[in-house]
Amino acid sequence: MILAAGSVSHPAATSEPRPSVATVQVSPPPDTHSAKPLSSIAQPPVAPTPKPQLPGVYRFDVGAFRITALSDGTLPLDLHPLLRGATAGQIEALLHAGFARNPIETSINAYVVDSGSRVVLIDTGAGELFGSLGGKLPESLAAAGYRPEQISDVLITHIHTDHSGGLARAGRRVFPNATVHVAQADVDFFLDRGNLGRGLEPRHLAEALATIEPYRRAGKLKAFTGETVVLPGITAIPTPGHTPGHSFYRVESANERIEFWGDILHVGAIQLPRPDVTITFDVDQPAAKAQRARQFAAAAGGRRLVAAAHLPFPGLGYLRREGDGYAWVSAEYRNRE
Ligand SMILES: [Zn+2]
Repeated sequence: MILAAGSVSHPAATSEPRPSVATVQVSPPPDTHSAKPLSSIAQPPVAPTPKPQLPGVYRFDVGAFRITALSDGTLPLDLHPLLRGATAGQIEALLHAGFARNPIETSINAYVVDSGSRVVLIDTGAGELFGSLGGKLPESLAAAGYRPEQISDVLITHIHTDHSGGLARAGRRVFPNATVHVAQADVDFFLDRGNLGRGLEPRHLAEALATIEPYRRAGKLKAFTGETVVLPGITAIPTPGHTPGHSFYRVESANERIEFWGDILHVGAIQLPRPDVTITFDVDQPAAKAQRARQFAAAAGGRRLVAAAHLPFPGLGYLRREGDGYAWVSAEYRNRE
């Protein structure tokens, strides 16, 4: 500790020359780090060794299923032009309360469900469609020890860039042995040029044709309608609103279960406390809002484990009622065999 000259009291101060700062430092400073001159703290000593982020992979079990969360990357979302139903001030206040800031760094999560006999991928990330953002799923999959040829089935929550974009690259199927499962309502909406005047954006049509169509041509597209057991232990649950065929996938084994949620919410800091706030990506805004209210209430009431595509990786947790809305409780982290 360095004493300031003015703070030194000395019994003989009135009769003796005032001691200089140097003479009052009678003992060495106990904390040599804090005694370093400020100039040496301000300058980083050397540049850190350049090392890129590691692939995002997290493994856990639900009953007899081994599940692996895979990060496709993150992207910054400027919420102000995207969210509807909240003022700019309300958005900023909720972000502040949630220790977040605009633009919000948004995860793109996908999941492998491995039953032993089948290796199932739920959503595929953005592939090459977001340019330099996203598209890390193949890297994460490899780090998790899976090859694309091993994927037996791909379950698509809905046909949007960041969920179905990773199905194909340059028109070729990335998962050559996989059957793609998706709701018929999304196939009907996103692959029909006739919907261009009815809410379908040209970009989404082009992307659907580039990613879903190669599987349809190969006879590898299987569409379902209504609540359907798509594979043993895996049920598709229609949750329309965000898109006409938006679906949850519920995985159940040995009295344990998890729900894969796709885009029932995008921004936890805003839509958990305010589930009425929608996003421009919602194809049917009122239906998306009502669906979110219904599913949030069911998840909180049933203490359901959910996997959310856009909450911070690995996106696993629970909803708890809090005030007029909800709070997120992350699932516990486990790292042992
Ligand atoms: Zn999404």
